[in-house]
Amino acid sequence: MLALMKIVETKSALKAHRATLSGRVGFVPTMGALHAGHMALVEAAREASDHVIVSIFVNPTQFGNPEDLEKYPRELSDDLAKLEAAGVEMVFTPKSAEMYPAGADTYVETPRLATMLMGALRPGHFRGVATIVTKLFNLVRPDMAWFGLKDYQQVLVIQQLVRDLELPVEIIGHPTLRDPDGLAMSSRNLRLTPADRAAAPILSKALQEASAWLKAGLTPDALCEKVTTFIQSEPRANLKSVDLRNAETLDALPDEPITQPVVLLLAAEFGGILLIDNAVLSG
Ligand code: AMP
Repeated sequence: MLALMKIVETKSALKAHRATLSGRVGFVPTMGALHAGHMALVEAAREASDHVIVSIFVNPTQFGNPEDLEKYPRELSDDLAKLEAAGVEMVFTPKSAEMYPAGADTYVETPRLATMLMGALRPGHFRGVATIVTKLFNLVRPDMAWFGLKDYQQVLVIQQLVRDLELPVEIIGHPTLRDPDGLAMSSRNLRLTPADRAAAPILSKALQEASAWLKAGLTPDALCEKVTTFIQSEPRANLKSVDLRNAETLDALPDEPITQPVVLLLAAEFGGILLIDNAVLSG
């Protein structure tokens, strides 16, 4: 018989139910508006653990822009139905005041990773992510947690804080799920106009082209220039950044032929909606 999924809004209810669980607990933190990308993480968690806990919390401290926070899609009843069908044990759906009660004054910082790339584009974003994920780990006490490699820098931030704070959780980065035309699935895709949705796959196309260009021996600067021109050929793309970095550290690369694994990170706005994508490439 299928056990009923528990839906809890408070930390005390979460802890009480967590205390009844034995065996390996897998955790998938999300901000909801769940799509097949999220569900792939849940499925991977289900295969590897005895119980899966999912959180749905649109975390205010990781949004710099109040309008972006307000417009973030919220689809709780659909989300809960998907999670129940996927065999999830418990969903944690706290309100903001539950996670950040008055007087809360502690943040988790990973300053090197948090201030580069997307962190420079969105100041404070990774501090908010690191803080909420640490709090969620302490509440859920998972053995393993899944994060999508679509948010590549986020995975490195989480791995860094887990290492530095000795948190007893294994972090697993899951490959990016894409729509059939290559666009990386994202809750933000729901906000694109049809014309912008049609234009957005230019990002994944650029990643594919770049892989071939790198194999042909292009150096980092030449590659980034070619990728920039390629994306700018799409007039609806407002390109924000193109970066080729060391895949493990995200350090900048010397302008020499590539010998180690690198990651190409892209960010562009379509009608004001920021989309990101990346691919790990080798020379
Ligand atoms: P979010 O709700 O956007 O915070 O995402 C929750 C988790 O799902 C994060 O670890 C994301 O990296 C992951 N995720 C989002 N989109 C995708 C995707 N297209 N493929 C794989 N994982 C994803």
